[in-house]
Amino acid sequence: MRLTVLALALATSTAAIAHPQEAHQHAPAKAQEAGHQMMHEARDKALLEAAFEVDEARLRADIDRLVAFGTRHTLSSQDDPERGIGAAVSWAMDEMRHDGLTVERVCDTVTGDRIPTPTRVCNAVAIQRGTERPDDVVIITGHIDSRVTDPLDFTSDAPGANDDGSGTVAVIEAARILSKRQFPATIVYAALSGEEQGLFGGRILADHAAAEGWNVIANLNNDIIGNSCGSDGHCEPDVVRLFSEGPRRQGYDERLGAMQHRLGGENDAPSRNLSRYLDALAERLPQLGLDVRQIWRTDRWGRGGDHIRMLEKGFPAVRFTVAVEDYDHQHQDLRTEDGTFYGDVAAEMDFPYLAKVTRLNVAALAALASAPPPPSGVKASGAVSTDTEVKWNAVPSADHYQVWMRRTDAANWEKHGHIAATACTDGQCSATLDGIRVDDWIFGVAAVSKGHHASPVVAAVPGGDFRPIEESGEDD
Ligand SMILES: [Zn+2]
Repeated sequence: MRLTVLALALATSTAAIAHPQEAHQHAPAKAQEAGHQMMHEARDKALLEAAFEVDEARLRADIDRLVAFGTRHTLSSQDDPERGIGAAVSWAMDEMRHDGLTVERVCDTVTGDRIPTPTRVCNAVAIQRGTERPDDVVIITGHIDSRVTDPLDFTSDAPGANDDGSGTVAVIEAARILSKRQFPATIVYAALSGEEQGLFGGRILADHAAAEGWNVIANLNNDIIGNSCGSDGHCEPDVVRLFSEGPRRQGYDERLGAMQHRLGGENDAPSRNLSRYLDALAERLPQLGLDVRQIWRTDRWGRGGDHIRMLEKGFPAVRFTVAVEDYDHQHQDLRTEDGTFYGDVAAEMDFPYLAKVTRLNVAALAALASAPPPPSGVKASGAVSTDTEVKWNAVPSADHYQVWMRRTDAANWEKHGHIAATACTDGQCSATLDGIRVDDWIFGVAAVSKGHHASPVVAAVPGGDFRPIEESGEDD
């Protein structure tokens, strides 16, 4: 098989990714490097242009509008035109009616510990169909429902400005900005309901995605993204936390467990590699002024969010949330005690911070929807050999691929080489890494578009694939 090695990465590389026999350089490396650079600048300029259309004043106005529904509790009125969850969901749908977007109410009737009688729970969903690969889907979510101290209290005012008005307005703002542009893949904007009553909106969306046959590449869930200080005065206005799953839960069985025990994969679920991707993106776009703190845990200690339901369905999902939570101003009855005000109101929020997190989401959605889908069938081999071979299934929309590696104890991907799509035959691609012992590294592959938008890296370990694992237990 003929491989073209276009470039070798990272200066610190002591072990070049190269193919021994038929590798050759297309053009002088310097000219190529300059072309690369220009391509990357154009790519990032477009991402930043979209991101900086995020308007702080508009976010603020949308939060005020959401708070004005009084309560958005899941058990509140469905048909009162002014107060309650029904009016709020209708409003979110209206806000996302832009040219080219299909807006729908996606509902189910549910009961649970916090939903004593059968209740209709509805998500506001807007779909921006991809121009080339409509089945590849990138999803941004926030939850529109709110609560106070008693989770069953559906009559008291529950402003839910930050939890999760903040995530909801980020979804709406992203729809406003990105609907004016075109992307090869589909973007779904969803304001979820029923989160506070048991993550129902996430479950309803995950079921809908499966029923529609969406190839979900990423779910960016935003839940509490609008404050920067805690009640103890500790502030971190330049950091957003990003929670991701470690070993994948969906499809995990004895067989996968045994394979991971032998080969690894405890730190390379698609959710984890989506987290690495978003961290790297924020680093690449310092203009956003936001550092991603990856938290390698599914969610905050003992707590949850809608992305968990997506993960349970086998879809790569992460949760963005503030660096410092303010426990006095979430899930609280509105009151003042001993001079301390409790309640989730807009006055306690940091809108410049919310704008930054929203910008990162907009840039990430644009980048992911511009990239080819992550490759499937990524595998490494090379036991008892001085070389490693990495193989994967060709991605029809890929212009080229990046083959990545990192030390087994390294947090993030360290270096990569480029492999042209023309090097693949019969839908199979491979790269041989000379002098690289498979034992000592983790390998991965990203698919890259002509415009140099790369997919997240898919790790060559059991459970690393971005698609849901067949419930039969097959993991190819
Ligand atoms: Zn929440």
